[in-house]
Amino acid sequence: MTKQIAIVGAGPGGLATAMRLAAQGYSVQIFEAADRVGGRMRGLENGAYAFDTGPTILQLPRLYEELFAESGLSLNDYICFQKLNPHTRLHFWDGTKLDLTSDLAAFKTQLAAMGSELPQAFDRWYAEHLRKYEAGYKPYLSTPVRSLLGYLRPAEILAAIPFRPWETLYEQFWRFFKDERIIYALSYPSKYLGMHPTVCSSIFSLIPFLEFAYGVWHPQGGFRALAQAMGRASEDLGAKIHLNCPVKQVWIEDGRVRGLELANGERIFADSVVVNADFGYAIKNLIPSSARGRYSDRKLSRMKFSCSTFMLYLGINRRYENLPHHQIYLSEHIRRQERPWIDDSALDEEDPSFYVCNPTIVDPSNAPQGHSTLFVLVPIPNIAYDVDWTAKKHSYRDFIIKRMSLLGYENVEKHIVTETCYTALTWRDDYRVHLGAVFNLNHNWSQLGPFRPPIRSENVRHLYWIGGAVHPGSGLLTILEAARSATFFIERDLNKVKV
Ligand SMILES: Cc1cc2nc3c(=O)[nH]c(=O)nc-3n(C[C@H](O)[C@H](O)[C@H](O)COP(=O)(O)OP(=O)(O)OC[C@H]3O[C@@H](n4cnc5c(N)ncnc54)[C@H](O)[C@@H]3O)c2cc1C
Repeated sequence: MTKQIAIVGAGPGGLATAMRLAAQGYSVQIFEAADRVGGRMRGLENGAYAFDTGPTILQLPRLYEELFAESGLSLNDYICFQKLNPHTRLHFWDGTKLDLTSDLAAFKTQLAAMGSELPQAFDRWYAEHLRKYEAGYKPYLSTPVRSLLGYLRPAEILAAIPFRPWETLYEQFWRFFKDERIIYALSYPSKYLGMHPTVCSSIFSLIPFLEFAYGVWHPQGGFRALAQAMGRASEDLGAKIHLNCPVKQVWIEDGRVRGLELANGERIFADSVVVNADFGYAIKNLIPSSARGRYSDRKLSRMKFSCSTFMLYLGINRRYENLPHHQIYLSEHIRRQERPWIDDSALDEEDPSFYVCNPTIVDPSNAPQGHSTLFVLVPIPNIAYDVDWTAKKHSYRDFIIKRMSLLGYENVEKHIVTETCYTALTWRDDYRVHLGAVFNLNHNWSQLGPFRPPIRSENVRHLYWIGGAVHPGSGLLTILEAARSATFFIERDLNKVKV
């Protein structure tokens, strides 16, 4: 009989896993609490404007091509990607700017203007990363997680040593560049890992390398269109998606899953259950306390979670043709190497770094003609730290709108037609994200590799986790790799283990 798989949540991880499993012939059902697929990238509309809500940066498009091709489909039948070149303009605290691009010659020309020795330093860094990619990507990112002992493979450890994984990102970039602007420019993705460059391992310098080597891309129609494309593909492969259908609990008996209990009281039988809901939220709310294993409330309260984000989604009655798609303002505060600057434990009300996305210049579909949408993101403390958002929301919004001029958005206030604002509370309450920590568990050493919650549950048979808080980590590219691993575990367990 066809094996039944139930998936909790239609985030990118849930959808990618559904595609792979449905393509293998399993009977797959996804139960999603929201009214649409996509999780943090589900998108929103306000009047005539449509917005991406979460991801705006797409790396390694080949992962999406592989996901579709390995499921027997063609990505181009569902969505097209466009390469952005240059992709991100960085504005530094001292007024200088740098355009990140995968056109390495153009990038080095800009570096030369910042310091005559920088282009050669970049060549050395890039050459080291070509080797590091070979040594690190496959064994550590695209191989299903192993036991702690499984990580102790001498050949792989020896191959990693020349790349000094014990260095922080800051230390690694300093070794090459000795210019703090370049250090913070290349280490900005550490924010997406929930960490400051002075505490984040240098293994993550592979992220900026991948952006230089393979570019940054934009899905036409936005990331919400990508979510819809993955949803459609899942259905074309035979999966059933139940929207507005919250799960109350994973049904577990005698140490193995039996299925799901829905909020409407219905019980759904399944041979395997995949939880794509946020790990911290799900372990507290969806897993019976007797089956939580080592993830007690006490353990959860000691785990380190990322920052949250303050978001403004603005419908604007003009276009900003001359401003880039992605811009980041890196403030002086990013250079401070003590709390609260390194761990986002307090709200920065003086000089926060922030990011603005201006997608309409490459993708006019999201606004009426001559209008545009802007997406503003400011890292803020997650709700483990005390910020009264009910009192602060409006004044902080005014403060951030004024700061937008730092990125060239002059007098933006008078062009705003619609606006939606998210705080840490929105992420917690509307998106069911533990502490509103949108980039999930930090990627410090005690929460990495064998120490991160595993994809295959340690204590409940036929229960699997997929998403940013579990192995191997946060971000779309990592989650797509994890979907491959989850499928591998499920197939192996269903085909070999007698229940
Ligand atoms: C503002 C922001 C910017 C980001 N930028 C980037 C970026 O540029 N590039 C990048 O790669 N990543 C980025 N990320 C991270 C990326 O969005 C996440 O890593 C990714 O969305 C996590 O996917 P996921 O599969 O873990 O599921 P999620 O997106 O968390 O989805 C989980 C799903 O489970 C559902 N669910 C929860 N509880 C239940 C329940 N009880 N019953 C049924 N369904 C339930 C939720 O409704 C949701 O749809 C960003 C995130 C945010 C918030």
